[in-house]
Amino acid sequence: MKTAYIQVNTQGNSDLIDITDQLEDIIRREKVTDGIIFLNVIGSTAAITTMEYESGLIKDVRTVLDRLFPHREDYAHNFTWNDDNGHSHLRSSFLKTNFFVPVTGGKLDLGTWQQVVLIDCDTRPRNRKVVVKILT
Ligand code: ZN
Repeated sequence: MKTAYIQVNTQGNSDLIDITDQLEDIIRREKVTDGIIFLNVIGSTAAITTMEYESGLIKDVRTVLDRLFPHREDYAHNFTWNDDNGHSHLRSSFLKTNFFVPVTGGKLDLGTWQQVVLIDCDTRPRNRKVVVKILT
């Protein structure tokens, strides 16, 4: 098994960043033709998912996250740590921080309109690290 990392700077506050190209670079560099890539974004206020990465859906994802997990003061987590990001942790927990992507014929086996996207749910800019485990 091989390990690689992707690092991205985010603006926080539901910043959505397409990391598909960086994953494809790793596959090329490591000469993966068939296998499975396991991804995990490190941290409890970020998430990864797949989506069609276009401006309308980026807005829609932000709107839905605000509706489902609004930025409110009264989450118990905020009282525990005198923090302001209870909603950020909830978004991460429910969206999840990891998944598998199959690699077939040297390419990520994803749909044409299916990108791998990191969502930074925290309330401030962050440097995020995604660990990539390559199983061949
Ligand atoms: Zn917190």
